[in-house]
Order: sequence, then C-alpha cells, then structure tokens
Amino acid sequence: QVVVVGSLNVDHVWTAASLPHAGQTLSGEYTTSLGGKGFNQAVAARRAGAASTFICALGDDAGGQLARESAITDGIDLRAQRSLRPTGTAGIHVDREGRNCIVIGAGANADLSASFVDGQRAAIAAADILLAQLESPAETILAALRHARHAATTTLLNPAPADAVVDAELLAATDILTPNETEFSALLACHLGQRIHGDAIATLDPETLHGLCRGLLPAGSMIVTLGANGCFVSHASSQLHGDDHGYYRVAANQVDAIDTTGAGDAFNGALAASRAGRREAEFSTHVRFASRYAALSTESRGAAMSMPALQDVLDRFND
Ligand code: ADP
Repeated sequence: QVVVVGSLNVDHVWTAASLPHAGQTLSGEYTTSLGGKGFNQAVAARRAGAASTFICALGDDAGGQLARESAITDGIDLRAQRSLRPTGTAGIHVDREGRNCIVIGAGANADLSASFVDGQRAAIAAADILLAQLESPAETILAALRHARHAATTTLLNPAPADAVVDAELLAATDILTPNETEFSALLACHLGQRIHGDAIATLDPETLHGLCRGLLPAGSMIVTLGANGCFVSHASSQLHGDDHGYYRVAANQVDAIDTTGAGDAFNGALAASRAGRREAEFSTHVRFASRYAALSTESRGAAMSMPALQDVLDRFND
C-alpha cells in the first residue's frame, strides 16, 4: 500500500514551430491531459503494482471531474479535498526541438491543508510507504510526513520542484530523499553552503557524492537521479541494507527515449511500489526496478498517461 500526497494539474500543451515571445501569437497543435507530480507518481505507483491512495485538492470544475474519472479508471483510491479555486493547471508550450516553457497555476493545489491530511491519518498509518513532493504547501507535506513517522510508515520525499523550500524539519521527517541533479544542487546550496551546478553533479566522484548526501540526510537514504546517467544511492551507516560501502551507482537502462518528462515521477512511484510490495528485498532491488520503470516511461510521450504497466516492464527487462 502506497499513499501519495501532492498535486494534480490539468496540462494544456501547445506545440508550435517555435516558442512564443512577448507579444507574439502563434498557431499550433493543442492537446490536454492530466499531470502534476503527485498524480503522476500515484499513477506510476499503481501501474507498477501497488495499491495506491492519492491525497490531493481539486476544484469543483471539469478538471476535477476528469481527475475523479481518471482515478477510477486507474484504480486509484482518490481522497480529494474540495477547493473553491480551480483545479491546478499547467500551460505548456513546446517547440519543434522539444524545448518547453511552462506556467503552472497552482489553483486548488495551494489549498491542500494540513487539517485535510490529518483526516487521512488512518490511511497513512495503514500504508507501507508515504510518497510526497513539494507542489503542495510545505506545512501540509510536513504534517503528512509526521503522521507517517508516528505510524512507522516509511517516508519518501521527492524534493521537487527545485525552487521549493526544503527546510530542516522536512528533511528530519524524511527516510528516503530523491532529488534530481538540479534539486540536489539547490539542497546543497541551502543546507551545506556548497555551490555545485546541477550539470556537475554526475561528474563528482562517489566518495564526494556520498559525503554530500550524508551531510544533507545524516540518518536516511538518498537517491540522486542523474537522468540518462542513472542514479547514485547513499545510505546512512546505521541503515546499511546489505551494501558494502553504503553507496553505489545504478546505470540507466538503454532505451529509445523520446520524452523524458515525468521520468523522475515514474522513478519515485515505482520505487514506492516496489518497496511497499517487497519490504524484505534489498534496497538496490527497488532502485533497479525504479530505474527500469522510469527508463520505459521515456519511450512514450506525456506524463501520467505514459506510465507503463508492470507487465510491460517485466517483459522488456526479463533477466
Ligand atoms: P527528473 O525527471 O526528475 O529530472 P531524471 O531525469 O533524473 O529525473 O530521471 C529519473 C530517472 O529516470 C533516472 O535516474 C533514470 O533511471 C531514468 N531516466 C531518465 N532519463 C533516462 C534516459 N534517457 N534513459 C534511460 N533512463 C532514463
């Protein structure tokens, strides 16, 4: 059982020859789908094989209705706070080269309250793992992590987006932290006063990376995701899961990536599902599964709807 707390957005995507500049009007193709880090991760956890509960806030509008129908289709147990604001939206412009510009209207996501999460305490306590990100109010996410801690439910925090404030209290309530390179760079600047550009993270030697991870999360596990360079795993010495040094790199799986949007969400949802399903397995087993799941998600376009089914992952990487 995985409980995801977080955001849901209706993505509006316009694809044109170029990105619009100030004052310009372009014509292009339009598509719409559901996204938001929270929803993407809840869908990934579900399709990766876990029972998935998703706690979010929705407006009383067409987007909210679409979210409810989509959750039913995917078999997700939706626990939605009703908001007077519109359901969250993302306006996404994409050019011919796949570059994008995004504006997010948090809408209802900004209303997700600690008191609503308090009302979901029983579901959090019954879960194996709680997965959260930071497109929702920080105090709400902190409340969810603390309820999980109180009930010995493992806490997994994906500290995204990179400009979110991740304070010491959030870190202290986290068992597993999963930044990408940009988010890791932001955490290092904020908590350790280290200025290391995101692009340079993958070039650091493992001992240095491990030391930085230990500085950020002394008692927990960290997975720094490195896109096509795979990921780096670092455990506290008190938490060794049968791994010699407490740190290692997991290579990315070779795939024909056409759209890496949501790869991190795929990774986090699949990691949570694997961990919830096989608590006794070594941590590296869950990381390898999450890497495979995320790699396969890059072979189709879109975010939530491009999350693969478990059987597709097993068929593709059968060793
Ligand atoms: P985010 O989407 O949050 O920026 P990353 O880009 O780091 O996250 O991707 C998360 C994980 O997805 C990586 O650790 C890797 O396992 C997998 N992944 C991402 N891009 C690729 C790719 N091009 N090929 C194979 N796996 C990938």
